[in-house]
Amino acid sequence: MNIYQKKSDLNQITENLKSQNLTIGLVPTMGALHHGHLSLIKKALKENDKVFVSVFVNPTQFDNKEDLDKYPRTLDVDIEMLNSVCKDNIIIYAPNVEDVYGDNINAVHFDFDGLEVPMEGRYRLGHFNGVGTVVKRLFEIVKPDIAYFGEKDFQQLMIIKKLVVKYDLPVYVKGCGIYREKDGLAMSSRNMRLKPEYRKAAPFIYKILKKAKVQFETKSANKVEKWVEKQFAKHKLLSLEYFTIAETNTLKSFKRKSKDKSYRAFIAVYADDIRLIDNIALN
Ligand code: AMP
Repeated sequence: MNIYQKKSDLNQITENLKSQNLTIGLVPTMGALHHGHLSLIKKALKENDKVFVSVFVNPTQFDNKEDLDKYPRTLDVDIEMLNSVCKDNIIIYAPNVEDVYGDNINAVHFDFDGLEVPMEGRYRLGHFNGVGTVVKRLFEIVKPDIAYFGEKDFQQLMIIKKLVVKYDLPVYVKGCGIYREKDGLAMSSRNMRLKPEYRKAAPFIYKILKKAKVQFETKSANKVEKWVEKQFAKHKLLSLEYFTIAETNTLKSFKRKSKDKSYRAFIAVYADDIRLIDNIALN
C-alpha cells in the first residue's frame, strides 16, 4: 500500500499518471473507514486507473471542539481495510493539519447560492466553508478526474457540485448511494461510538424516513414534518434536531408540491451525544 503524508510527495505521482494518460479517482474521507466508504472506493477503482483515498479529519468543518477531539482516528485499521480491497491501485494521502493548512488553519468563506443555508448549514455554523476549503485544496493537490461523494451527506454532495461549477474546477463529481447496516442504520464513522442501547435504537431513524416517504405521497410536507416531530417527541432515547422536506435541486422548503420536481427528506438526530444524519429520496 502506498501511503503519503506530504502533498509535496504526491506531485510527482500525479504528474506521472497524467503524463501516461492514466485516470485518477479521489475519495475524500475523514477515516474510521466502513463499508459505506469502501463502496465509494470500489466504484472509483472500477472507473479509474488509480484511486487516491484521503484520510484527514478536517478541523475547519467542526463547529464543536469536543466533536473534533472525539472523532475516531483509526489509521492502522483503515490501511488494513484498504489493503483488503486492493493493494496496487490505491494511494492513501493521510496528511497532518499543517500539510493541508500551513499555519493558517482557517476556512475560506464560500457562497454556494443558498445550498449552504438550511439543515447542516443552520445547525453546524461554518461547516460548509470548512468542507469547501478542504475539498478544493484536495482537488488542487490530487488533481482527480473524478471525485466520489456519498449521498449520505447529500447537502455536502450538492455543495461540492456547486463548488466545481462556480470555480470551474476540472473534475467530475459523482454521487454514490447510501450504504446501510442490515437494520437500516446509515453507516457512519460515528456509529462505533454509540452505546449499545443507542445503537439498538438508532435504526428508528431510517424507519421513520421510510414512513415519511409513504406519507408524502398523500400529505403535504408540513404535515409530514409535524408527524415526524411527534414520533421523536415520544422516543425515549433519540432526540430530533431537524427533519426537513426540501426540493432536491435547491434544498429549499416549499409550500406546494409540484409533479415536475423532485423532493428529499433530511434528518439529524442526537443519540446521546452522538449526532446522526440521514436522508431519503421521496419521489
Ligand atoms: P466521511 O469520512 O464521513 O467524511 O465520509 C467520506 C465520504 O464517504 C463522504 O462522501 C460521505 O458522504 C461518504 N459516506 C459516508 N458514509 C456513507 C454511507 N453510509 N454510504 C455512502 N457513502 C458514505
